[in-house]
Amino acid sequence: MFGSLRRLGLTAPACGLQTPIVRFAATQAVVVASSDDLSKLDPAIFRSLSVEFEVEALAGRLCPVQLTDQSVAIFALAEHVGGDQADELARRVGERGYALATPQRYVLAAPLLLAIARNQVRPQSRYASRSMASHPARTALASAFQDMVEWGVRHGASDLHVNIRFDDAESEVRYTLAGRYVAPERFRRMPTRTLFDMLSVAWMDIQGGNGAVFDPMTEQQGRLSKQVDGRAVVLRWASLAADQGPSVCLRLLERDAAAHGQGLAELGYMPEQIDAIERAMLSESGAIVFAGTVGSGKSTTLACLMTSLPDFRKIITIEDPVEFLIPHAIQNTVVRDLGATAHEAYATKLRTLKRSAMTDVLLGEIRDRESGLAFMDLAGSGVNVYTTTHAPSAALVGERLASDFIGVSRDFLATPGVLKLLVYQVLLPRLCAHCCVPALRLLDGGGAGVDGRYREAGVWRQWLGRLRRLYDCDIELLRIRNPEGCVACRGPQVRDLDGLAGRTVAAEYIEPALSPGFLDGLRRPKSGVRSGSSDTDKYEETPRATAMECAVHKALRGEIDPRDIEPRFQSFETCERQLRLTGKPGLRVVA
Ligand SMILES: [Zn+2]
Repeated sequence: MFGSLRRLGLTAPACGLQTPIVRFAATQAVVVASSDDLSKLDPAIFRSLSVEFEVEALAGRLCPVQLTDQSVAIFALAEHVGGDQADELARRVGERGYALATPQRYVLAAPLLLAIARNQVRPQSRYASRSMASHPARTALASAFQDMVEWGVRHGASDLHVNIRFDDAESEVRYTLAGRYVAPERFRRMPTRTLFDMLSVAWMDIQGGNGAVFDPMTEQQGRLSKQVDGRAVVLRWASLAADQGPSVCLRLLERDAAAHGQGLAELGYMPEQIDAIERAMLSESGAIVFAGTVGSGKSTTLACLMTSLPDFRKIITIEDPVEFLIPHAIQNTVVRDLGATAHEAYATKLRTLKRSAMTDVLLGEIRDRESGLAFMDLAGSGVNVYTTTHAPSAALVGERLASDFIGVSRDFLATPGVLKLLVYQVLLPRLCAHCCVPALRLLDGGGAGVDGRYREAGVWRQWLGRLRRLYDCDIELLRIRNPEGCVACRGPQVRDLDGLAGRTVAAEYIEPALSPGFLDGLRRPKSGVRSGSSDTDKYEETPRATAMECAVHKALRGEIDPRDIEPRFQSFETCERQLRLTGKPGLRVVA
């Protein structure tokens, strides 16, 4: 102990004191009880001098900190604030030509102290204005944040993005609305400093977050609970420490959404698909797995299914975090990204779960070995399992679960009854029925593609001709978005969404029990993972349409703009070339 202190140079010199040690009574130290208190410090924290004073090894106990008025204070744990080491540190502050702050010492809890010692609050003080120290300013920042959340929730945004650019006076606020990354007029030209302070204040309410303070230098995750118009909203925080500054993405999870009575039909599922899902839910035991990309609405669909379960079934959910409030369900949030204790909590939860005599369990996303094991455990125990995973088609769900990342055994997956139903879904913008126009208008004077680039009428003629050949369909039925919008759909803030009215699902499904050869194919590892739609797969094809064909069907009903189909799947030209390779006559459209 003493040896290490001597090495760190924090014992009083044996002789020749250059500066007398200032004796300090621990009771005089100011207690900083929370990060909230910390943000009220005036002068504010400027930077940790831990490295400069070569006392990094003591960072868990005490730390010299320069404040914004250039003076230096000593931050310490309660039991060290009046100790010899702190006194010696105070002496060295003077020795190095710094003025000691008044008050000179602060008492903090270990996590806050560490955050300060590691300079995790440095940029905050760089941007934290003096005004942030005062309570009214903090309230103003909190309500500015609330305003952004409310705007997003009221407009049905799935994400709120705050991209801080330290080198710019102004930073960016964007939303994901109807799957598009848009910048509403209302939040343009926001001062970088205000946005940064706002995020710092918002982080103070974080639950299950890593870090006592918002730290632009590290990746942070956590969640926030807010109320908007009397509805509970959960914000899942993920910040990226980008080169220009932190980029914070807040997923807006409106927890009551499932209770608003959206059924599968309202989400956009077709009658035959609803029938298959309901049949799968009727029988007890086995898994229903939903696949799709991030933001494809899998969780909404799952919440809708769980809500429709009868009262006499005991439902338990394990999620990270709970996304929707499901009536009658016993919901559990298990955070799984934050180290060993979280993993232990997950394992304990699962062990208890198996003794809970439930009939139905919603298991958040299967994305790693841990959740893969949980899936095997539950799906093998005779309960209904509902879950999601990332896979590019219904046919590839099994391959994804059997992949090295997840490691569910192929024999297990191929056991009849384990996989009841595999569904793949995408979300597509729904056309406003009041103002959409015939796609044939593209032949009048050309028009823009979904990428915003103008194309000549001739290009569109080819494109529509390809659609007709591929699907043997009547292209006169196709409708496209009217970019001007109408009174029914026009929004004052985001012109990109004029002519649209929410989103609709395009889906495909496989019932392994009704797909001869499917389970046998799953039992044998395939060489290389194939991507693309299920009609390139080797098992005996089901007569079901793919999600892309389902989307074309919706386009022919005038529900979606055919130009929106290609980005979510693949280009029609690629489809045509694939058909030529496989020698098939054409693609199907669900009738
Ligand atoms: Zn309209």
